[in-house]
Order: sequence, then structure tokens, then C-alpha cells
Amino acid sequence: MSLFIRGGEVVSGQGRSVADVLCVDGRIRRVGPALEAPADATIIEAAGKLVFPGFIDPHVHAYLPLVNVTAHSDFANCTRAALLGGTTCIMDFAGAGREKDFDEAWGVWTAQAAGRASCDYAFHLMVREWNAGLRAQLERLVARGLKSLKIYLAYKPSLAIRDEDMFRLMEFAAANDLVVMAHCENAELIPVLQQRLLAEGKTGPEWHEPSRPPMVEAEGVCRFLTFAAAARAKAYVVHLSCAEALSMADRFRDKLEHLYVETMIQYLTLDKSYAERPDFEGAKWILSPPLRAKSDQEALWQALADGRIDTLGTDHCPFGFAEQKTLGRGDFTKIPNGLAGVEERMMLAYSAGVNGGRITAERLVQVAAENPAKIFGLWGRKGAVAAGFDADVVVWDPAARRTISQRTQSLDVDYNPYEGFEVVGAPDVVTVRGEVMVRDGEFVGPTGRGQLLLQGGGS
Ligand SMILES: [Zn+2]
Repeated sequence: MSLFIRGGEVVSGQGRSVADVLCVDGRIRRVGPALEAPADATIIEAAGKLVFPGFIDPHVHAYLPLVNVTAHSDFANCTRAALLGGTTCIMDFAGAGREKDFDEAWGVWTAQAAGRASCDYAFHLMVREWNAGLRAQLERLVARGLKSLKIYLAYKPSLAIRDEDMFRLMEFAAANDLVVMAHCENAELIPVLQQRLLAEGKTGPEWHEPSRPPMVEAEGVCRFLTFAAAARAKAYVVHLSCAEALSMADRFRDKLEHLYVETMIQYLTLDKSYAERPDFEGAKWILSPPLRAKSDQEALWQALADGRIDTLGTDHCPFGFAEQKTLGRGDFTKIPNGLAGVEERMMLAYSAGVNGGRITAERLVQVAAENPAKIFGLWGRKGAVAAGFDADVVVWDPAARRTISQRTQSLDVDYNPYEGFEVVGAPDVVTVRGEVMVRDGEFVGPTGRGQLLLQGGGS
């Protein structure tokens, strides 16, 4: 089976050039000018279009059963939305707080994804505590190719890890070349601030941000990176939202050999005024860390451009407004935290970032394809349009105009956080391992063909 993409402008993190792309048996075989198309090849004309590597989202919750509410998502609808937006590989988090141990979490997540995911996927492993039994389970997963662990400093008592366990885990990670990812917010301070606000009668969604202000996130970054430096572990700050937390991370750049920072498309394109909308509508924009001030957006764009932020994700985690977000009516602490975004991420980033003159298309490829692949051990297979890589390719129409709306989104969720946003630039054709999954902006691929990715290509 071969696929031939003719005459597009192929973009990498280092530059761009007009070239043909020949894919055979699911892999890219050659990239270069004026190649010959095999007689049996499916031909895609890409003149005037950009040809990107399939984008990678390092932070997605396709399946998320929290302690009292489950996200309105599964691997089928999440990966279909991802593909429609030009994302061909998602990284989810095995474990969410209900499972008794790593083996159970791994078993549940691999079973949820198998046969449902339409693009390839990898898992980070959620760690809430540390003991000898868990260590033995983790050693087996590492032997199979697991590359990354996720801890929460926030969310007591369900998810937050104790400092001592965090340090022992980081020592294990350093010895086994694993990346430790952390949600950085102070678990002790947030409940105190929440209770104070509620006692003052401040119960609406607009009080969510004041209950976890930038200093709470900066403190989390400080503690996480202090421990990582002491343990000499590879540290990855997930979903950094604000300038204050960013400058805290900057203070550790000479103390850590491997320090990675991730931000999310919502922090670049939305601000806290959305969560302040009246009549509880603000609940649609509740997530943690919260949406911040407009000035934080520009600080994050600047850091994305100059290299202090390494990756761009979504933390995709949709909840319905009418039946789920309203659990927090009268008490903002009970609003389920999360937004959809896996379908919109690259259109928003291209429109606001590349068209907006804040980052180049090459930098976009770095933060949304190359860097996630390199940090999490998938480089060589994912993240570039180059010979030997999987034929995960996005033919991108830089002139396509779309208006984002709940009415046209692929997810069955009752709102879209980017309702009415106008974007210029959208995927035209999207392939996974040489198979066309999206054509003319429509999903045309089979469901369930996605594979679990482990470092070294095992599964
Ligand atoms: Zn998350």
C-alpha cells in the first residue's frame, strides 16, 4: 500500500521546502523534489498547502473516571476529534484515583483504548503513592517501555502525593531515565482559600481563580523542581498557566539538566473573564490551573517562541455543561474541572500563533510534534516528515477559514469553549501510518486502528 503526497511545502522544526512525500507500508520512504509516484499509489495533491508531521498532544484525557464524575469522553470520540484537528498521536494518563495499583490502572486504560482509538497513543502513568509493591509493578512497566510518570501536588486527599513519596519516586525515575511530570499547585493552601471564599458567600465560578491564584501555582513549581533537582530527575511541568509560575521555573534552569515546561492552548487563547460570565455560564471555563489574565497570555506566547516553553497540549477533558458542570451550582469547588480542545488546538495555535506573528510554523512543529516525540521517547517513529518515520502526515490548508462552534464540532458535548472563534488555517488531509483518516475536513478513516506506543516500538 503506498501513498504519495505531491508538491506541498514540507515543514520541519528547522525549515521548509517544496517536496513530494512517498509513503510505503505505513512508513515514510522518501521525501524530496520530483519523486516518481508508484502506479498503485493513492495520490494527494498538496500544491499550495503545508505538509506537517502529524501533531502530537502530550496531555489528553480520553478516558477520565474521577472519584465522583467521569469525563464525557472515550477513546473513539477523542481520537476522532484529534484527527479532525490534525493530531495523530495522543498521550493519555493511565490512572485517575479509583484504581488500587499500577497494574489495574494499566489494564483499565489499555483495555479502554484498544479497538476504540483511531490514532496511535501512549500512556503516562499516574502515581499517588510509593511503596515496595508499587515499585515492583513499576519496574515491570518500565521494562516494557514506559517512559513517563505523572504526579499531582494538588488535590488532597484523592490524588496528591506526599513529599517523601515524591522524592523516592524521583530517585527511581532518575535511576531509570524516566520523565516525572507534575501538576504544580499547593494542595494545602487551595482548600483553605476555597473555604474562606465560600464562607464569605463567594460561591460562583468567578471565585475559582482567586482560590488558586498564580502564587499557588508558582509554589508548586518551586517545590516540584526543588525535589527534582535534589533527586537529579528529569522534570516536566504540565499545563503551566501564568507568568509567575514561568519565572519560578526560570530560576531552576541552571539547577536541572532536564527541565521541560508545557502549556495549553486555552491559556494562550482564553482568559479569566470567561469564567466570570454571569448566571453560572462561567462554569464552562473552569479548569485547574485556572484561566489567567490577558497579560499572562503574552508571557506564555513569548516563552513558547523563545524556547522556555517546550510543548503545547490541551489537557483535553470535556464535561457537559447542563448535566455535569452544574454539579457545582452554588459551590464552585464542585464544578468538574476541564475543557475540550483536542479538535481545536492546532487551528487555534496556527491562527493565533503563526498568522498572529507570535511564532513561526517551524516553531509550531517543534512544540507540537518534535519536542513531545523527543521528550517521551517516540522520536524516530513520530514527530517528523522524514524517511523511516511513521506516515502520520497533515496536509494543511493555510487559507481555510472556519468558525468554531458546538454545532459543527465532532464531540457530543453541549458546548464548545471556543464558540464563535474564527480561524484561518485547517487540516485538509490527515493520515495515520499511511492510511487517510481525514479528507476535506471530514473523518473518513476506520475507528479502532490506533496502536499503543511504547519506547522502542513495543506494545
Ligand atoms: Zn491533565
